Amino acid sequence: MHKLQLEGLNKSFDGQQVLTDITLELPEKQTTVIVGPSGSGKSTLLRSLNLLERPESGHYHLSNLAIDFSHDISTKQVLNVRKKTGMVFQDYNLFPHKTVIQNIIEGPIQVLKKDRKEALQEGQNLLDKVGLKSKADAYPEQLSGGQAQRVAIARSLAMHPEYILLDEPTSALDPELEAEVLQVLDELAQEKQSLVIVTHNLFFARQIADKIVFVENGQIIFDGSPQEFFNENQENTRINRFISAMT
Ligand code: ADP
Ligand code: MG
Repeated sequence: MHKLQLEGLNKSFDGQQVLTDITLELPEKQTTVIVGPSGSGKSTLLRSLNLLERPESGHYHLSNLAIDFSHDISTKQVLNVRKKTGMVFQDYNLFPHKTVIQNIIEGPIQVLKKDRKEALQEGQNLLDKVGLKSKADAYPEQLSGGQAQRVAIARSLAMHPEYILLDEPTSALDPELEAEVLQVLDELAQEKQSLVIVTHNLFFARQIADKIVFVENGQIIFDGSPQEFFNENQENTRINRFISAMT
């Protein structure tokens, strides 16, 4: 039994089916990479893991937490899921009027009820980990995109979620700034932080993924190892076409 599992998930927007019968295991201490064409439902799938989207039907399991989407979801269940899953967005979503360190300690103090001194200490350590020790008192607008995204990752780590979910974390970045962020993610993967990453960067996917999920038209077309996905004898023409178009 995997820690995070989806079973038979269906989601539509305004009567248009966006996810169809999604059944998926997201292994603990591993990196799952979700790929697929634009508009295929990757973000909706990722956001469902955090309950930012509510599928109409299907089941969600995370540790001892079970949700049946065809029933009402309590606030307590939502808070529990949000505690266990941290979301990192393409555009960082930092609080613009707070400094870097304030961005990081806000959640630990307000939500986890951490002592301020302890939160500050851990915040500094996390900034050091993402290579931004000197930026503690900077404001988000003073950061490059790559730095801002690394702060967003540190902020997520400060909440100690079981899974960190990242939706195209480097799509807004130039290649050299992207590399800084990918390096941080690579280190987290090596430390066995459970990660779920949506990305268009197939080189990175191949390098970091323990598992690749290919989504097309709201359905899972492939779910397996990067070796199988990138196999030069790959027989699935849709996967072949996607890989050729992206690399
Ligand atoms: P991807 O991340 O793979 O590009 P999305 O999950 O963002 O795909 O979107 C999948 C489909 O759902 C698209 O057709 C998109 O237009 C639609 N969609 C996503 N979010 C909404 C929304 N909030 N309201 C209406 N349609 C949406
Ligand atoms: Mg998306």
